[in-house]
Amino acid sequence: MKIILLGAPGVGKGTAAGMLARKYGLPHLSTGDLFKEAIRAGTDFGKKIKGIVESGNLIPDTMVSHAVKERLTKPDMKRGYFIDGYPRTVEQAMVMDTFAKPDIVLNFSAGRDTIITRLSGRRVCSKCGAIYNMASNPPKTEGRCNSCGGTLVKRKDDDPAVIMNRLDVYEAQTKPLIQHYTRKGLLADIDSSFDISEMDKILEQCYKAIEKVK
Ligand SMILES: [Zn+2]
Repeated sequence: MKIILLGAPGVGKGTAAGMLARKYGLPHLSTGDLFKEAIRAGTDFGKKIKGIVESGNLIPDTMVSHAVKERLTKPDMKRGYFIDGYPRTVEQAMVMDTFAKPDIVLNFSAGRDTIITRLSGRRVCSKCGAIYNMASNPPKTEGRCNSCGGTLVKRKDDDPAVIMNRLDVYEAQTKPLIQHYTRKGLLADIDSSFDISEMDKILEQCYKAIEKVK
């Protein structure tokens, strides 16, 4: 089973992907993690994308698709996987169709107010990168990381005005992508406008959609 998770930033698809992967015993590939890992390991690809990311630009489609293809064609991915963060554009989806045909695309959505509340409450440890949320997952001591004691900071990306802009960009970019998968009959809508404590309500919808294609 090859399952794609789509959804705006803050919609909870990454969290859901991790839980679904454990339930179905399949690997979870997050392209964000794939890029971070490449940068950390200092591979040729990592060096290339480091400069691009640091200058605030988007990694070109061809480079993203190349890296994802390489990862998805490794033996541990043979039985299937959950992938989030790819494809982001209809161009990437068309490239993916040439090397991997998804069985279903879970399309997560939540209202803007919900997303803004979630993301603006996010704090990141400046030392180890651990992520907290003032509403759903606050640190034990205010402003301090539970595991390393580092200072928690709010990323510029998580300011409401910046979030609004990210959501606009996301919607413009993914509209054609959603049409692409709707036409193929692969899209399943997942309502993720629940509190994080009600994760099971989100997962139930995913199970139902997955059982249909299993
Ligand atoms: Zn920390």
